[in-house]
Amino acid sequence: MDFFNYKDNELYAEDIKVTDLVERYGSPLYVYSKATLVRHLKAFEEALAAKDHLICYAVKANSSLAILNTIAKFGCGFDVVSKGELMRVIKAGGDPGKVIYSGVGKREDEIEFALQSKIKCLNIESESELYKVEQVAKRLSLVAPVALRVNPNVDAKTHPSISTGLKKNKFGIAFEDALRLYTYIANSEHLQATGIDCHIGSQMTSGAPIIEATDKLISLYHQLEEIGIKVDHIDIGGGLGVTYNDETPPSPYEYLAAVIVRLKDIDVSIYCEPGRAMVANAGILLTNVLYLKSNSERNFCIVDAAMGDLIRPALYNSWMNIIPAVKRDPSDALEGSNANGTKLYDVVGPICESDDYLGKDRHLNVREGDVLAVRGAGAYGSSMSSNYNSRPLCAEILVDGDKAYVIRERQKEEDMWLNERIIDA
Ligand SMILES: *Cc1c(COP(=O)(O)O)cnc(C)c1O
Repeated sequence: MDFFNYKDNELYAEDIKVTDLVERYGSPLYVYSKATLVRHLKAFEEALAAKDHLICYAVKANSSLAILNTIAKFGCGFDVVSKGELMRVIKAGGDPGKVIYSGVGKREDEIEFALQSKIKCLNIESESELYKVEQVAKRLSLVAPVALRVNPNVDAKTHPSISTGLKKNKFGIAFEDALRLYTYIANSEHLQATGIDCHIGSQMTSGAPIIEATDKLISLYHQLEEIGIKVDHIDIGGGLGVTYNDETPPSPYEYLAAVIVRLKDIDVSIYCEPGRAMVANAGILLTNVLYLKSNSERNFCIVDAAMGDLIRPALYNSWMNIIPAVKRDPSDALEGSNANGTKLYDVVGPICESDDYLGKDRHLNVREGDVLAVRGAGAYGSSMSSNYNSRPLCAEILVDGDKAYVIRERQKEEDMWLNERIIDA
């Protein structure tokens, strides 16, 4: 459920007509609903209420300062994957003491910054990284809190590009190596094992893989206990899916219930790292229709949003729902339309790449000058955007009831080359 709904055939973001937002702030435009975001935050809090827990929102899904600030005010922690993300969290008012840091390629300066910021835990993804963290902690004369991100070799049954928990994936430490490395940590003066971590994939639409992974983490927990190593948290990662089309993912409550039952009698906090499930359906991308054109094979609806603004369809072949800001009556149809007034279009952007599309084979009753909305664009939308084709990053709006706030100004063209230099030769 979200707060982007039609009233009298006009799409609203909470209490504001989206066409008014495009008129005021231009196109393309990301629009977020604060009520939807807060609803998701509450859903996760309630799902975990029965157990000591920490929700670490995965910043990479949407790293807008205003979004991070809203989440921080709710009391949540954060899962970051770079120094830049950690700095964003701090800038947005997040508590570094509730930050965990994942990622296979942390640089030494990033590790140093994280330790100096006194973050909660570093999720270690390789043996070499473990030694690097120990070395940095020793140099800074402190003890680094770490968890091993183990690779439980569980199939998340999702798109191969966003599956992370299999042996063929670059993520995590092989399960067989975990005991040896935890023993190493226990004997180090500059490392402390605080948890066991995993993250097996994204856009999971069933709870089964996470249960399988949790069972593996629990067996490791008991093995550690036997050799006198006690960790204070088990982190099951993120990955809960959302509905883009006809997927029926479990609710956070359904998803986490079985995990909580399994951890009930174990003296640990449960950590989770939701990204997509928190923000995807809290955002839409609005775009103006520039041109309609047809050839003997296809109809194209050319819009002013591109893969630079929203790369998921081009990158992963993701299906995202594209709906009109104003629904037309079927009687108001173009020549050659179906009985319901629609024609079949490929919705494409202005970038010079054949893969620059937002959706293929979409039934739309659309005209030049109309506004379309891409739903489910709050996660991995803006945060993956680029300036390719020298197109400025678009503006972003946070709607709260009948109020709209600009949370990112539309980038100016000249700001795109702010850090570039022409050589003097
Ligand atoms: C991306 C990522 C997440 C969030 O995944 P979602 O599918 O967006 O919930 C969580 N943890 C780690 C380590 C990640 O890389």
